[in-house]
Amino acid sequence: MRVAVLGGGLQGACVAMELAARGIAVDLFEARDRCLTRASAQNEGKIHLGYVYANDPTLSTARTMVRGGLSFAPSLRRWLGDVIDSVPVSRPFNYVVHRASLLRPHEVEAHLLACHELALEEIDGATVDYLGADPRVAPARIGTRELRDLYHPDAVSAVFRTSEVGIDPEALVRLVRDRLVGDPAIRCRLRTQVRGVERNGSGLDVEFENGAGPGCERYDQVVNALWDGRLAVDRTVGLEPPRPWMWRVKHYVRLRAPGADVPCSTIVLGAFGDVVVYRDRDLYLSWYPAGMRAISTDLEPPRWPSASEGGFSGEVRDQIQEGLAAIVPAVGRLPLDAFAWSVKGGVIFAWGETDIDDPHSGLHERHAIGTRSIQGYHSIDTGKLTMAPLFARVAADRVLAVA
Ligand SMILES: Cc1cc2nc3c(=O)[nH]c(=O)nc-3n(C[C@H](O)[C@H](O)[C@H](O)COP(=O)(O)OP(=O)(O)OC[C@H]3O[C@@H](n4cnc5c(N)ncnc54)[C@H](O)[C@@H]3O)c2cc1C
Repeated sequence: MRVAVLGGGLQGACVAMELAARGIAVDLFEARDRCLTRASAQNEGKIHLGYVYANDPTLSTARTMVRGGLSFAPSLRRWLGDVIDSVPVSRPFNYVVHRASLLRPHEVEAHLLACHELALEEIDGATVDYLGADPRVAPARIGTRELRDLYHPDAVSAVFRTSEVGIDPEALVRLVRDRLVGDPAIRCRLRTQVRGVERNGSGLDVEFENGAGPGCERYDQVVNALWDGRLAVDRTVGLEPPRPWMWRVKHYVRLRAPGADVPCSTIVLGAFGDVVVYRDRDLYLSWYPAGMRAISTDLEPPRWPSASEGGFSGEVRDQIQEGLAAIVPAVGRLPLDAFAWSVKGGVIFAWGETDIDDPHSGLHERHAIGTRSIQGYHSIDTGKLTMAPLFARVAADRVLAVA
């Protein structure tokens, strides 16, 4: 059986590794000269336990994230081995309720505890492998004194300590890239832009373009994991988006600041930001009002300039620091010029028509993600980095079910 996996991000890589582990060789198509350089390398690396999605009262998003979050490390361990433990993990996140939050502290608290119950149900007494952290520990509100030590009380109404963590995505993608190169069952077809997929009898023709010009090859099954290129290729095979969507380009600051004493924080709920400290050395700083640079509802996102091309790095860096400093004073005290820093960014795809400051926005619900399959063609909306390993296993099940 010939299988093409389109897109060499974490999602495509996980599908390729899972199929290879089940004895199926794959061709992995990637437009760039290396795999794993796009959204999968340029994100915060939070391995979600559902806590952020407090504005989905059905808990469907939380349930989805808990499943993904708890299977993330075990799946990667299966494909990569124990080297996964070398990826820097963040300190656990504090959930910081902003005074302008869409939800009040007791509502956030109820949501965190509901997520925790979901995690316990999912674990069901089994061994836990969640990047060295323990999701069986319940979220707990921190005292007023500690809140005042760590946060600005004028901006913050409550803080909850959680066991949720993030991984350094830049370190993770390096490991996965090495693993792909070393697997004889995975043929990486780099610098190959996929143009479309067409049904041809019982097979699927993948049309592409590379240094040798246009090309076309027949496969028995195709897995589309193209993220920002996914909808356009879906359309060529007759698959239309089922609901309105948004592309958002978000910039953030990466900083090497050894020993920086900054609390790992997710500020909820609305257009706020995050502070992530990976292994007490590397920092990720995001502040939504400054970092969210553009929105598009086109089939493909436009080619937005990177921070270095657009020449807005310094301005965005300072705005992000300023926005966060009003909530997390330790961020304001970081002498950014003394450290190596860069402004990076990536494209986020999500179903929804309005931005996250709208309490009714579809962006608060992320459960309508995963794999759509039609006669050997499987299109994966990864939704979140957290979900990629789980969705890879689902996609592999479907490929084998059709075979
Ligand atoms: C700023 C930011 C912060 C985020 N934070 C988190 C977080 O904390 N936790 C979390 O779980 N998720 C987070 N996400 C979401 C997460 O990054 C994505 O859901 C995930 O990385 C998507 O993985 P992917 O493999 O589908 O996409 P990608 O990694 O983008 O891979 C898609 C690949 O397809 C290739 N491609 C595209 N079109 C074509 C084509 N036509 N032909 C050939 N190749 C093509 C691209 O070059 C790319 O390599 C964040 C995203 C951003 C941008």
